[in-house]
Amino acid sequence: MPQGIVMRSTGSWYEVRTDDHQLLKCRLRGKIKLKDIKINNPIAVGDKVVYEYEPGLATGIITEILPRENYIIRQSVHKSAFSHILAANIDQAILIVTLTFPRTSLGFIDRFLVTAESFRIPTILIFNKIDLLEEEARVNQKELIALYEELGYKCIETSTLDNINLDEFHATIRHKKSLLSGHSGVGKSSLVNSVNPNLKLKTNEVSTFANKGVHTTTFAEMFEIEPDTFIIDTPGIKELGLADIESWEVSHYFPEMRDLLGECKYHNCTHTHEPGCAVLEAVEAGKIAESRYISYLSMLQGDDNRK
Ligand code: GDP
Ligand code: ZN
Repeated sequence: MPQGIVMRSTGSWYEVRTDDHQLLKCRLRGKIKLKDIKINNPIAVGDKVVYEYEPGLATGIITEILPRENYIIRQSVHKSAFSHILAANIDQAILIVTLTFPRTSLGFIDRFLVTAESFRIPTILIFNKIDLLEEEARVNQKELIALYEELGYKCIETSTLDNINLDEFHATIRHKKSLLSGHSGVGKSSLVNSVNPNLKLKTNEVSTFANKGVHTTTFAEMFEIEPDTFIIDTPGIKELGLADIESWEVSHYFPEMRDLLGECKYHNCTHTHEPGCAVLEAVEAGKIAESRYISYLSMLQGDDNRK
């Protein structure tokens, strides 16, 4: 039986990319058994499915969902209610940032990294619009990049305007399924268009209001921007559901804290005030960056640090 990948869904119809590169409109066979009843959408973008053609019609029926390698989920506000799977089988997350124009805060970056860690999805940071940086901002950005690379996150500085490192961006996404994220206006569409200009994804002008763009995307969608290279476009980090991470877990998703956790005096240490806390000692010794520790604290408090 033929297999395909779900590119988009409306809830009742699914657009499946077949192995011979066609897009087939499919519905779900009613009697597929769902393992997790707390999920309200049985099939998500990125799912690998088995389908068959509907006799006499140009449409298909999905008969089976193959096991997922991973998925990201939008937790409903009420924990008892149903959650929503945004995308499945993601190879990597690409977070595109600009420290100015528009501003991406370190809190936002760290929150994204923690969320991706919790879903076990590796993240790559793209610092776009480097053509706009003055000397001092450039130096600051380099220091930040050194910090994130030390933590194990690959970083690439790009400019779509001056054609800087676009080849490296291209090589990073080639033949993979990448979740593309970042504030509106950071240059997501411009970067994707740099790989395949025929796509002509629409670019937004940065809104003048507080230098922040306005989000227009509401549903996850997958684009095949060249053969076997997929970009998953999602509404943004708010939808990635950090709400699902308990406060005791947060430190597990900070690579620089993870290894220290066994060394704290108290096993239920929150790393905020306890004597004999290995994390606090590392912060004081400058082994954990202050900005990262501040992000940790704000995540513990559940602050809205998503901007
Ligand atoms: P998106 O909202 O993340 O998809 O961002 P867009 O790709 O629509 O870009 C937003 C604005 O930033 C557009 O006016 C782009 O022309 C501009 N832009 C994108 N990349 C760069 C860059 O590297 N340098 C500069 N100076 N502007 C850029
Ligand atoms: Zn501690």
